[in-house]
Amino acid sequence: MSTTIRWVDPALVIDPAAGGPVELAGARCPVCATTAFPFQGGCPRCGGEAMERVALPTTGSLWSYTVQNFEPKPPYRGVEPFEPYGVGYVDLGDVCVESRLTVNDPAALSLGMAMRLVTITAFVDGDEPVLTFAFAPQEVAA
Ligand SMILES: [Zn+2]
Repeated sequence: MSTTIRWVDPALVIDPAAGGPVELAGARCPVCATTAFPFQGGCPRCGGEAMERVALPTTGSLWSYTVQNFEPKPPYRGVEPFEPYGVGYVDLGDVCVESRLTVNDPAALSLGMAMRLVTITAFVDGDEPVLTFAFAPQEVAA
């Protein structure tokens, strides 16, 4: 059994070797201070090409959300059997991040609610979990 921590994309987080807690890896432009996620080499606002890799805040507020009620087509891979999951945009202050949500009950979600970053299993490859990030309501234990 491997103890290697696998991510859907290791570039998403600052320290992919750590099982958690993790920080998302964003890009900040030193020229105009625009922040982007995921990391990208060029600034979406001014075209600057000296983007710095920065750790994004691990808490924010829910800006928009929906619930994915049916299994997406490939290349989507999920934990079997499929269960509906929440997706949303979380406002981290400098940047809005599209994310899975740990809650799939719309009645348990509301705009502006406080959210925190967590790690979830995106899918299982063989018997190895492959991780991704998600946001959970702050008042609910993950
Ligand atoms: Zn810029």
